[in-house]
Amino acid sequence: MDNRTCYCRNSKCALYGRSTLRARLKFCDWHGGAARLECQRCHSRVSARAGTAYAGVRTDLSTYLRGATALAEGLSIRATGRLLGVDKDTVNHWLPNVGRHCQKVTSYFFRNLHLAECQLDELWTFIAKKEAHLTPLEKLRAILGDAWVWIAFSPVCTRKQTNRLVVPDCFG
Ligand SMILES: [Zn+2]
Repeated sequence: MDNRTCYCRNSKCALYGRSTLRARLKFCDWHGGAARLECQRCHSRVSARAGTAYAGVRTDLSTYLRGATALAEGLSIRATGRLLGVDKDTVNHWLPNVGRHCQKVTSYFFRNLHLAECQLDELWTFIAKKEAHLTPLEKLRAILGDAWVWIAFSPVCTRKQTNRLVVPDCFG
């Protein structure tokens, strides 16, 4: 797990919100399978998982990630639990956690967009082999098989004073 985005979460601390080397966090111990860091200024502790989709999850990360993938692919809560050997209530706990985090990520990346025009497209391909040829184990691992690329872009064109089209910047 990348600790460079961790920061002191004590709002009264002078280092509150600072990340990377300016955070001055030092490894403290392990708690619930995650590293816990200590602020060198106020000595409060922060889990390396705080603010991530892994926060509050006690299941090992590999199982959790496979579960999140299965849920994203539309597998039911019970089926995901059966496949991974975990209780349905555990999977039921993951779903809102993953959903909230996905919403935050989407809100972060899709903000202040001033689009006059937006073009959407999709591209289907596969990794190694098509979905129909995967073994059940390969399907569960969700690495190989069908892959979709979703593209949204806003073409922005710059015009000189002569009103002649000069530089189309289709990725602006
Ligand atoms: Zn602090």
